[in-house]
Amino acid sequence: MTDHADTRATARCPICRKPADGAFRPFCSRRCRDVDLNRWLSGNYVVAGKEEEDEDGLGAERKPEDGRG
Ligand SMILES: [Zn+2]
Repeated sequence: MTDHADTRATARCPICRKPADGAFRPFCSRRCRDVDLNRWLSGNYVVAGKEEEDEDGLGAERKPEDGRG
């Protein structure tokens, strides 16, 4: 009997291969979601092996005021 279905385990983040989160599926986090989006916008969607560990480095395009409005 397979009482423990692994349906959720099937969804993995295409960016870092981590288990996807319900709020950001199919990605694991907002960061990875943005990374994927930026790749599409850039027009060069490729499976790059380059990983960005500096989260602060991505803040260049992020607006300083985000909780306003
Ligand atoms: Zn991820």
